[in-house]
Amino acid sequence: MIKNNKAFTNFPKIWFFDMEGTILKKDISLDNGKVAPSAWTVLAKELGEQCYLEEEKTKDKWLNGEYIGYLDWMKDTVEIHKKYGLTEDILGKITNNSELQQGAIELLSFLKTKGVTTALITGGFKCLADKVQRKLKIDHVLSGCEYFFDNSGNLEFYNLLPSDNEGKVTFMQQIAAEHGVSPSECIFIGDGKNDIYLAEKVGVSVAFNAQIELQRTATHILNQKNGEENLLSILDLLT
Ligand SMILES: [Mg+2]
Repeated sequence: MIKNNKAFTNFPKIWFFDMEGTILKKDISLDNGKVAPSAWTVLAKELGEQCYLEEEKTKDKWLNGEYIGYLDWMKDTVEIHKKYGLTEDILGKITNNSELQQGAIELLSFLKTKGVTTALITGGFKCLADKVQRKLKIDHVLSGCEYFFDNSGNLEFYNLLPSDNEGKVTFMQQIAAEHGVSPSECIFIGDGKNDIYLAEKVGVSVAFNAQIELQRTATHILNQKNGEENLLSILDLLT
């Protein structure tokens, strides 16, 4: 659905994608509407019910404005993961179980033939983003959390980067500027309420089977049946 009735005549020069729920399939059962569904919660579930419940509380704190920012929220969550015994093997299992969205390979292959730049911005785990970037040959990737494990596979340290909510906008602006492209010539595709900041700043934004907050903001909406999500259908919106 095209909301503003403005046909997009020029093919976007830079394609920005959200990762979880967009390039990667999401576990819809974990979407309780609080925040965008992600592997943070999948990982917490894997670490046990108690970990999951504590992780849910961080979402309430986030929504109540009790964190300084996204980094502060991630740090709290990472410490919870650590407390419940996060290991390299468990994170590896989450990464291995992640699945590309239908149409992702086809869409990204098509974009390569068009010679456009592609970028992925995610507030999620770097190991997941690495897997996606290598598979789809995405030009630029920013991810929120990189875990470092010791020789025994236990969590040793971590690196956190502002890459969600407003953090997504900053990266988009930097990448666009490096390529000499205006944000108005860029497209963003996402699925979460955390994506509204970025959706507001680009020329075309697609709410891809998205939470309602993003549907209200995006220039284009694509709603597909559960299990029939397909990224390639985005091209139909633009023609
Ligand atoms: Mg998402």
